[in-house]
Amino acid sequence: MPDSHPSPCPQSPDDLNQIVLSPQDLAFERLVTKAILQSLQIDKILYVVLSGVTSGEGLGFNRGLFLLADDGQRSLRTGMAVGAIHREEAFRIWEEMVAKDLTLEALLSVYDSVKDDPDAHQLSRRLGYLHLSLENLSEHASMAPDLSTIGRCRIETMLAQSLLERRPLHSQTLELACEQISDSEPFSFVNWWIVPLLTSERIVGCLVVDHAFSDGEVSVGRQHLLATIADLSAIAIEKSKIFDEMRALAQVDGLTGLANRHTYNQAIHRLLTQGRQTGRPLSIIVLDIDHFKRFNDKHGHLAGDDALRFVASVLRANARKTDIVARYGGEEFVVVLPDTTYEQALSVAEKLISTVRVESTTTAWGTITICAGVASSPEGGMDGTTLFENADKALYRAKRNGRDRVEGHFRIP
Ligand code: GH3
Ligand code: MG
Ligand code: MG
Repeated sequence: MPDSHPSPCPQSPDDLNQIVLSPQDLAFERLVTKAILQSLQIDKILYVVLSGVTSGEGLGFNRGLFLLADDGQRSLRTGMAVGAIHREEAFRIWEEMVAKDLTLEALLSVYDSVKDDPDAHQLSRRLGYLHLSLENLSEHASMAPDLSTIGRCRIETMLAQSLLERRPLHSQTLELACEQISDSEPFSFVNWWIVPLLTSERIVGCLVVDHAFSDGEVSVGRQHLLATIADLSAIAIEKSKIFDEMRALAQVDGLTGLANRHTYNQAIHRLLTQGRQTGRPLSIIVLDIDHFKRFNDKHGHLAGDDALRFVASVLRANARKTDIVARYGGEEFVVVLPDTTYEQALSVAEKLISTVRVESTTTAWGTITICAGVASSPEGGMDGTTLFENADKALYRAKRNGRDRVEGHFRIP
């Protein structure tokens, strides 16, 4: 029977009067809301929402898919999907859940074990190729058929229409085909709902759910719950992204893009603790630009900033992936070399100071030189403060001994 497609998201006062939530619905709303707000990890938010909307104790949909916008708002891609691909599998999973007596609360709490279970990500992998360019939404939406059509249409067309119209869409008669040319078995969402995830400024993504294997009559109250959870997840996803950006910024020095002193302190503590367990050596090189005050006086502070970036780029270019290059402060840098002996670190330091000297000759400011002090924790047994003090003492010796040179903590003066 063709769908009369009432507004999928209750909006008018009349619609709102039809919202009746059962005690089970209210308990579900409270549980999922709390779980969403407690997490700052995007994957966990997606898992919580998808588990909630697909569990029998929750909204009882068969399958759920999150598509997320990239940071540049260029496209939408699969974030996570849960549910069975085939009807038989759906019943097997359902029977397993009943047999295990798995409650929604238990389901939400097992995220850490589920996230590494390949079986739990089958649908995410199956739909991993989905992609919708956000730059030509109108073009995609113009190909969307009427929601009461009996047949199939490409999922991209309906996603685009839902985003452009900023409202949920629903059809019982039109299947949403998720196809790629190589597909031997086509996949479709059947009796589906698409809810756009939007904040006032940005497209966050879309949530797609369906009732492919069960006769899903979704009450107005539950439609309202679906829209509420989608709104909440949009805000939570945005908040997590901002949190990730802030955390990344807090680890980095703003001028050079190197790790900052705080990140260095955390890393050296972690590596020395590891070193104590493995007995592997670890070395550090502390470096300081020679006569930098004079440089600033001669070329100006802005050129001084460029020179700091130049030295940072030489250090980074000559570091291994496992090394940590940090700006310790002012014109002082520190390079952490895991699994590196004292002798090896001395030769790395020699290479660093000669590269800065040689490459700086081609800059507008002329030759820049630096000094380096090297210290090691041979069996990983040293504490971070002693290690740094040893390297710093060697650095001061390098300054006293004429600059543009390397000194090591164990080197005879
Ligand atoms: P030495 O060879 O003994 O290391 O002498 P120096 O002049 O390099 O050392 P000093 O500690 O006397 O001066 C460090 C200078 O580094 C002074 C300070 O203005 C400059 N400096 C520190 N941070 C920055 C920065 O972010 N930008 C610029 N342009 N200069 C900075
Ligand atoms: Mg200096
Ligand atoms: Mg200094």
